[in-house]
Parts: sequence; structure tokens; C-alpha cells
Amino acid sequence: VEPLMNDAISGQIYSDGWRKPAGGTREVHEPATGRVLGSTGIASAEDVEAAVESAVRAQDEWARWGGPRRGEVMRSAARLLEEHREEFIEFGMRECGAIRGKAENEVQGSIGEILEAAGLATAPYGDLLPSDSASLSMARRVPLGVVGIIAPWNFPLILAMRSVAPALVLGNAVLLKPDVNTPIFGGSLIARLFEEAGLPPGVLHVLPGGPETGEALVTAPGVDMISFTGSTATGRKVAQAAAAQLKKVSLELGGNNAHIVLEDADLEKAASTGAWGSFLHQGQICLTTGRHLVHEALSEAYVDKLVEHAKALRVGDPTDPETAIGPIINQQQLHRVSDIVERSVSAGARVRTGGESSGLFYQPTVLDQIDTQTPAFREEIFGPVAPVISFSDDADAVRLANDSEYGLTAAIQTSSLGRALDIARSIKSGMVHINDTTVNDAPYVPFGGMGDSGSGARHGGTANLDEYTQWQWVTVHDSPVEYPF
Ligand code: NAD
Repeated sequence: VEPLMNDAISGQIYSDGWRKPAGGTREVHEPATGRVLGSTGIASAEDVEAAVESAVRAQDEWARWGGPRRGEVMRSAARLLEEHREEFIEFGMRECGAIRGKAENEVQGSIGEILEAAGLATAPYGDLLPSDSASLSMARRVPLGVVGIIAPWNFPLILAMRSVAPALVLGNAVLLKPDVNTPIFGGSLIARLFEEAGLPPGVLHVLPGGPETGEALVTAPGVDMISFTGSTATGRKVAQAAAAQLKKVSLELGGNNAHIVLEDADLEKAASTGAWGSFLHQGQICLTTGRHLVHEALSEAYVDKLVEHAKALRVGDPTDPETAIGPIINQQQLHRVSDIVERSVSAGARVRTGGESSGLFYQPTVLDQIDTQTPAFREEIFGPVAPVISFSDDADAVRLANDSEYGLTAAIQTSSLGRALDIARSIKSGMVHINDTTVNDAPYVPFGGMGDSGSGARHGGTANLDEYTQWQWVTVHDSPVEYPF
């Protein structure tokens, strides 16, 4: 199979074909080794402006293609992604610092996102309405127009694809801004995929860049909606900027997710699920278990087990099959993680294992002697750090779980399912998993959070119809309606 990524497109952006951007170029590094992986174009504000004009021009014709034909493009893209699976996985490992399993899972999930989107293309898209006089009254979903998508670096392919595929298939043109840390896996490869799948020119633009590129996208008058995945702080800025133009905004933001262990849980399994939840992809997941809430009868034993799990994890180059923990994406993020741990220790927390780094590799870390004011309890860490705090009864567990401005996901470990369902109802969280981990996703569920974890928007399945279309009410009369004047 010919690779999709090649030297001819290196240092370019995808906007009416591949071209040199006004914003210059930037090297892309492999975090595990520092090696240069390639280069990306950086889209300037002028590049964004040109892309918006082109997208506005191309969108109407694309919408007129009709659902079934647009669905065909999606099915071709899914087939191509299957064929080029290995190339994607390789970039997923090298550019993100991910172990193979994480990269494979992300690619597989992205195929699922594209196929689910293809299904939307041929689903009913409206209602017939009752009427006193019209021969036809209907409500139909029509595209929004141009959708701007801003994605982060931690799961760059799937977090872009879960918006790109449904937005396109529902007849919108798309401008995607991947993060500068992951512009190939989360950008160039997506552009190549849809280019090869037969998407008409101008319908998709891939515009890598930093905050300035993102701001240009959010403030461009021709962009009708912004779908943003990233931190709560940036999401707030995006919402404020978009509000000036009354632009539709979908925000999927941070989390500080609770893993609750009741006294009747299977201790070994609860610790294993907890370790997976905190350490998978170095804890750089919005769904990461950020707080372990453990019944006081089990908490000492639970911490011991969690420490055992953490110590057994091999840290190093993620392309080595023995590795469980790869690098943190960059120095700035590593500093953020170690700063939270140091401030927590100054506030009285105890490091039971880890707490150290070498290069970009941060050791899996377990903290105890935590209270609700400890920085590791309050803040989203986005690193391989597991703070453990104990509770005395179910009400106390619910109080601790809800003691956070976030509300993305939670997990409850117990052998009493009825009790767990009851606790789940009291937890302010968009997703709750009983006897599983906080880290769960599928392309056909309404994925999203409560509180500061988002704006109530949901990704996945039929939720995508609400996200990427708007309603139009249409009536038809046989002959002109007569009025008194
Ligand atoms: P970030 O907010 O710094 O960046 C996200 C994206 O926004 C990047 O593409 C960035 O270039 C862009 N951006 C930055 N400033 C901008 C601005 N002023 N205007 C427009 N765009 C701007 O987030 P990050 O550190 O890259 O990602 C980690 C965060 O994302 C964590 O908080 C994590 O929880 C969250 N996240 C949430 C989900 C979810 O589905 N809820 C999924 C993954 C990550």
C-alpha cells in the first residue's frame, strides 16, 4: 500500500489542494526520542480567511449531493483507513508517544466514527407535520453551513474524526484545526484520507496552528459553528469569542473523574481498573481517573495494590512492546504534572510511589494523605498520577465525587448493583460506569459531560444530528392562500 503521507505534502496545509501556507512551517517531533518526524504547515489568519471563503463557496454544492452519495464518500474513507491502518498506527505511536494498543484503539474507534457517520447519511432527516390547510407541512434538517473544528493533541485522530465525519456527511463544509503537537496524525492524514475518498475540493480544509489560528477560526464570520475539544480554560475563551457573533458552539472540555470503590468491591479488580484509568496513555485523557475515592475499610489495602500495579509498569519508548507508559507530550505538560504533585506534597500529600521524571518520562505515581483542598484532588492533572482519598459511607462518596466543577465521567466498583445505580443518579457526571473504568467511549453513545466539562453538547449516534444540522419548517399549498387584506 502506498503511504498517504509523503514528502510532497510536508510543510503544507490542505486548503483547495495542498499548498504552502502564509503562516510558515514547523517541525514535528517524536516526544519519546526527540527525533524529527516531519514538518507541518502553519495556517495564518489570512490562510483561515481564504479557507472560509472557499468552504462557503463549496458547501452548497456538497449539500446538494444528497445523503446517499455523501455516505459513499464516508464508506470509501473507512475502507482507506482500514487499508492504511498500519501507517496511522505508526504515526499515532510516534507523534503522540502512545503505546501500540492505544494507537490501535484510536484508529479502530475512528473507523467506527466514520461508519456511524455514513449511517446518518441515509437516516430519515425530518418529520411530516399535521396542518389545517397545507397539503404538505414538514420539518427537515438542513446543514449549518461551515463548521470549524478545534481538536487537542492527546487523541488527535478520533477527537477530530468524531466531529469531522458527521459534520461532513450531514452536508456541511469543515475547517479542521489540529493541535501543533500532532498535526500529521490529527490533520494531514485526515486530509489525505478524504482527498483519496473523493471528497470534492473546498469541502474540507485542514489548518494546523496554535491559539492564533484557533482564534481566527472562531471569529471568522463565515464559520457557522465551532466544535471544540480541549481544556476548560480555552473552551471558555472560545465560547466568549463566539458569543459576539451568536455562533453555535459545542464544547467538550476537561475532567477530574472519580473512581469510587465501595467496601463490597473486589479489591484486586478495583485496583487494576483504577490503575488502568489513571495510567493509560500517561493519564493524558479527558476520561482519566483523576481521583480514587475508596471506602475507609479498604483504603490502606487499595493503596498497596495500586502501588504494586504502578511499580510493575514499564516506562519508556512506546514503540517497544514491553512499554506501558510512554512520554508526556512535551516539557510544558510535564512541568504542569510535576508542579501539581509538588504543590500537593507541600500541602501534606504523601508520595507512595513515583513522583519523579527523567526527560519526558514521568513515573506512574500514587499519592495518599489527600484532602479535598489538595491540588491533586482539585485540579485536572493530565498525567500518570493517582490520588487516593477515603470516605465513610455512600453519602460521603457522593459528596466527594461531586466536589469538583467538572462532571465528565465516573466509575463505581461494587457487588451491589442497585446501590451503585442509586449512587450514579446522585453523581453530577455525563457518564457513569459500574464495575468498569472511567475511560470508556464508543461512536454510538451520547458522549459528553456536565458542569465545566462542557456546554451540554454530546458526540455520537443520533446526538450528531442535533449537533451538525438545524431545523427548517417547510409548508406547501396547492394554490395561493387567501387572507382578509
Ligand atoms: P487546549 O485547550 O490547550 O487546546 C485545545 C485546542 O485549542 C488546541 O488545538 C489549541 O491549539 C486550541 N486553542 C488554544 N487556544 C485557543 C484559542 N484562544 N482559541 C481557539 N483555539 C485555541 O487543550 P490541550 O491541553 O491541548 O488538551 C488537553 C485538554 O483537553 C484537557 O483539559 C482535556 O481534559 C481536554 N480534553 C477533553 C476531551 C473531551 O472530550 N471532553 C477530550 C480530550 C481532551
